[in-house]
Amino acid sequence: MPGIQLFDNRRDRKSPFARFEKSRLGLYLHIPFCRAKCAYCDFYSFVPNEEEIMERYVDALILHMQSYRAGAKDYLPDTVFIGGGTPTALPIELLLKLIRAVKRNFTLAKGAEFTLEANPATVDVGMLRRLRWAGVNRLSMGLQSANNEELAALSRVHRREDFAESFRAARRARIENINVDLMFGIPYQTKKSLMKTLAYVVRLGPEHISLYDLILEPSTPLAKRAPGLPMPSDDEEADMYLAAVEFLAQNGYAQYEVSNFARPGYQCRHNLKYWNCEEYLGLGASAHSYFRDSRFSFARDVKRYMHGIEVPTSRIKMTDENDVISPQERIGEYIMLRFRLTAGLSDREFTRRFGFSFTQKYGKKMQPYISGGFAAYKDGVYALTPRGMFVSNYILSDLLDFEDLGQLHLFSGMK
Ligand code: SF4
Repeated sequence: MPGIQLFDNRRDRKSPFARFEKSRLGLYLHIPFCRAKCAYCDFYSFVPNEEEIMERYVDALILHMQSYRAGAKDYLPDTVFIGGGTPTALPIELLLKLIRAVKRNFTLAKGAEFTLEANPATVDVGMLRRLRWAGVNRLSMGLQSANNEELAALSRVHRREDFAESFRAARRARIENINVDLMFGIPYQTKKSLMKTLAYVVRLGPEHISLYDLILEPSTPLAKRAPGLPMPSDDEEADMYLAAVEFLAQNGYAQYEVSNFARPGYQCRHNLKYWNCEEYLGLGASAHSYFRDSRFSFARDVKRYMHGIEVPTSRIKMTDENDVISPQERIGEYIMLRFRLTAGLSDREFTRRFGFSFTQKYGKKMQPYISGGFAAYKDGVYALTPRGMFVSNYILSDLLDFEDLGQLHLFSGMK
């Protein structure tokens, strides 16, 4: 298919058995449909006005997977993530059809992590049982806040009560690995209300919690409304973040990334691929990939995406981005991603990868952050502290010469 990237079989072969080994891969599928558009959201998603477009999209996505089938036979996806949008906005039969197609077109590793994003009020126990039976073993649920006034300010379609019901339904469906997405910096939110939300979630006992800072994207309705709403100040947000990190640690959720916390053994293996600079393939409108030193993303336009797949001779441009990463950019990305993780950046590993020492080039610049309590250095490993993570954008732009590094393309694949 013109414009569609296919796997090739060139591989680094390091061990004599390498040709029998399969490379690990994260597989991401993007579903761009939602029940309603949240006021803060700038993800590629929309409310479909007919079921037909969902059917057509799922068929296109399946065709897209098929186009990778031959080229991907040397790969063993060990994580699958169906995200969006709201995948559970799809009728259950379409969702099951998609999951069956994943298994038909890719050989999944034994014990692969298989995550589905779901919004409260879009799931019930019967549907979740069928999804569990089909292979979904991790559910990521967007609660954002347990305070109904805050949820209304975000235009979420659910209330706290809907979430409790959906969470219980997931447990009844024997889903034993659940993530709950939360946010701070929401209109009307105070440190006290955030702590109440956290206490509520901890009592429910999910295995994983994500806590994102609300970013007011200029194009969103919330950004326009925000000046008239009570928004927490930067200092209040810093307070909220640090208190949340401490509270979650006290309750058994260790921080492992700027916004992510997990019980032992439940870190998100799929998202770790992004931060560990490992390969992943994203299919669907607006989905991003990192594969063979290239980053590419498919059209952020569902009609263009579907047409490109359905009519391979149409010469329609399927990708929005398609960049080979220069060695300089790779260094910058590596530093930025490692500093997202509490595991930090090992100088020995850095030297092994890039042929020079991190300390030699950046050690002096790190010093004030270490003495100010924003970063730590121990046994050859640099890591940001929670205080440093809150201001990591500032530290990284100070550390890295962005002009030297060129345009960095970072995307988390998270919501
Ligand atoms: S935040 Fe999630 S549920 Fe809300 S519109 Fe965006 S993708 Fe849809």
